Amino acid sequence: MKYLKILLNRRSLDTLIFFVTSKCNFRCKTCFYWKSLNRPGDLELQEIDSFSRSLPHFNVLLLSGGEPFLRDDLPEIIRIFCAHNRIKVVSIPTTAYFSDRIASAVARILLLDPGLQVNVRLSLDGLQETHDAIRNFPGSFAHCIKTHEALRALAKKHPLLRIGVNTTVCMRTIDGLDRLSDFVTRQLGIDDHSMEIMRGDPSDPACGAITDTCAEAALNTMIRSLRHRAGEGGTGFKKRFRTLLSAYCYSIQRDTYCHRAHWPFNCYAGRTIAAVYPNGAVAPCELLEPVANLRDHGYDFMTIMRSAEWKNTLEAIARRGCFCTHRCFIDASVTHHLRTLLAVFSRAVVQGITPKAHKGKGHSEK
Ligand code: SF4
Ligand code: SF4
Repeated sequence: MKYLKILLNRRSLDTLIFFVTSKCNFRCKTCFYWKSLNRPGDLELQEIDSFSRSLPHFNVLLLSGGEPFLRDDLPEIIRIFCAHNRIKVVSIPTTAYFSDRIASAVARILLLDPGLQVNVRLSLDGLQETHDAIRNFPGSFAHCIKTHEALRALAKKHPLLRIGVNTTVCMRTIDGLDRLSDFVTRQLGIDDHSMEIMRGDPSDPACGAITDTCAEAALNTMIRSLRHRAGEGGTGFKKRFRTLLSAYCYSIQRDTYCHRAHWPFNCYAGRTIAAVYPNGAVAPCELLEPVANLRDHGYDFMTIMRSAEWKNTLEAIARRGCFCTHRCFIDASVTHHLRTLLAVFSRAVVQGITPKAHKGKGHSEK
């Protein structure tokens, strides 16, 4: 039902990516955003309230940063979106360094709305040595594990708190991905582990863009692991469908990255998903230049989305058949593609009937 609603809704906003602060306590070697970090001028609470009021109801608020938990008013910001936009899911990525601060903020966020799903995503790029080296900060791995323990204690009391892990894949991390994945699943007990191929200009060029061959191997591992998980007996239909859809999105990412293949569907950037930066700049997606700034338009998001400039940008995206490897936008766009949804739906049905046939090795990659 959720996917049917999204499928039919091709025009109004479903997901907002909000870079809630430019402040960050780390200097990660893989950071593509490092030149924009720690600038003054983050939107203040009153400004966030104003632009949230201008938006319709939408489903998913994907926060980003910087480190979102560095904002003392983070729970209040989320409360604003719950009140004005009736969001159903908020996702918060974190360096997971400040265990007590994070646990206390999450505990407050969980009290805002009993129906709000709160996804906290720990950024973990490797086991201890690799992670601390990438983060440029000894002890960051240990802090991340401590934060996970604090959040796990909260999750026992709050079923709508979901803990996930985000990993940025680069030449320095790629060799340890199997061990990391095993650690995340078996030691941390987390089955939501997403891997994002490093994009943009990293602060340490030695991290380098990963080669097509390495990317293909890493993404194929992810795809196999997701399909294996979906085929395990006892997995409910909803989870099986979501897992298979995620595997499909990884295959799109792989084909785009390694073979420069176009997506088999249109990108919905600027229509059902958009991005807001800490200083109020607004863009259809994170990879295109901002079109306008909320501060210059009376904090009216919808005025910007109805402007000629915005429409011209969307037309240019459609004209050139734009494609990239950004998972948020692949995920947001695939949900409008009926043929793909039906194919994944059928596969989920078949795997539910014959779970054992899909266990173990031997899956095709697409
Ligand atoms: S990757 Fe994230 S945590 Fe690391 S420096 Fe950049 S914004 Fe901060
Ligand atoms: S395909 Fe990628 S770069 Fe192009 S508009 Fe969509 S998200 Fe932006």
